[in-house]
Amino acid sequence: MRVLAVGGGAREHAIVEALARSGSDVYACLKNNNPGIARTAKGHLLVDEHDVRKVVEYARSKGVELAVVGPEGPLEAGLSDGLIKAGIPTASPTQSAARIETSKSFMRNLLSKHRVRGSIKFRIVDSVRDLEQALDELGMGVVVKPTGLTGGKGVKVVGEHLMTKQDVLAYGEEVFSKRIGGSAQIVLEEKLVGEELTIQAFCDGSRVVPMPAVQDHKRAYEGDKGPNTGGMGSYSQKDGLLPFLNRGEYDAAVKIMADVVGALKKENAEYRGTMYGQFMLTKEGPRVIEFNARFGDPEAMNVLSLLNSDFTRICERMAEGNISKRDASFLDKASVCKYVVPEGYGTKSLAGEEIMVDEKGVSNEGAILYYASVNEKEGKVFTTTSRSVGVVGISDTIDSAEQTVERALTHISGKIHVRHDIAKKDMLDAKVARMAKIREGMP
Ligand code: AMP
Repeated sequence: MRVLAVGGGAREHAIVEALARSGSDVYACLKNNNPGIARTAKGHLLVDEHDVRKVVEYARSKGVELAVVGPEGPLEAGLSDGLIKAGIPTASPTQSAARIETSKSFMRNLLSKHRVRGSIKFRIVDSVRDLEQALDELGMGVVVKPTGLTGGKGVKVVGEHLMTKQDVLAYGEEVFSKRIGGSAQIVLEEKLVGEELTIQAFCDGSRVVPMPAVQDHKRAYEGDKGPNTGGMGSYSQKDGLLPFLNRGEYDAAVKIMADVVGALKKENAEYRGTMYGQFMLTKEGPRVIEFNARFGDPEAMNVLSLLNSDFTRICERMAEGNISKRDASFLDKASVCKYVVPEGYGTKSLAGEEIMVDEKGVSNEGAILYYASVNEKEGKVFTTTSRSVGVVGISDTIDSAEQTVERALTHISGKIHVRHDIAKKDMLDAKVARMAKIREGMP
């Protein structure tokens, strides 16, 4: 089958590999010359991924029969709608269904209207005066979010990124005046305390088929310090749970996702494609932090490396609206992913620097390499402002998968930064201990 894949990051490299593994001829549209995608795809076009007309034209010219869109920007621009209109079944949500990610106010209102469990207190405000009033009502235990897309970087947690009421109001003023995230609106929401986790699910408009739980690490520096980023690395456990997450809690989070898919259907915004749920596991169970209308990045690298079924078939079934649990099985293994990023990533990335990737060395260590936002020029790989390379280890335990990744990382060099603490035993033990305390009611 001829399949179009849109996007040029490591998430999309993992998508392209999974499609090719299931025998498809992949055609890619991406803005950067990702060497991994360029090599595996039968053809590719360097293009602005938001340019619906050009992407659809390319898909048509290649006789594409199915499409998958990786990043959120093109979903917001209506790329799935354009592809579907051109008669190409698409395993990614329409612009309307993607509002679950592209509008945080839409998401919070949807959950509250349909009384989905896991909802939290929130206020939607459009002015500094309303923001001040909302702060008086909710108190300082809150998080400030521009309603639109900010690549995970617009969210400010009070007590961490913003310390005083004045700081919150000043940030509000900035969001309103600069229209950060594309509109002059803020969602102020209750600050949740617990451990974060991700569950991704294949959705066909009605049903959800969940994947193993993953934990990402958004902070740029070791010890979960520093600015929020797109994600620095992630891990998953052999049984699909996490060291601090039990089966009942996992099921409760999946139920929330199924209810959201049901709510979207009732709102005439059928959701077909991969859905990403980010939850805070609290004393009361999982609570919704956000939804994404696509795979997570890095989390896609964990689950797609573990996928033991035909990914093309899964995408077809999502697009057709008839997926079942039998369509998706995963290896009984743990996975660890660490991102190699340019020095300064999170504040001011060193873009345009050469990085040396010894692919053979990485694969000899038993690890999988996914190229991210890099550009290949004359056989050399150069950084951009975003993340560079994802390295994944698969093994029976998180511990040995982590060691595989660390060995593989010795084969990548340049002006780069890696969070080596991700998935190390000490870190996992600390999370389990912290969650036990939270369960006992001690924050
Ligand atoms: P988001 O872009 O919504 O994923 O937010 C980025 C990060 O901000 C999350 O990974 C959390 O660490 C933090 N965050 C977002 N919402 C909340 C919340 N309601 N309570 C506590 N932390 C949050």
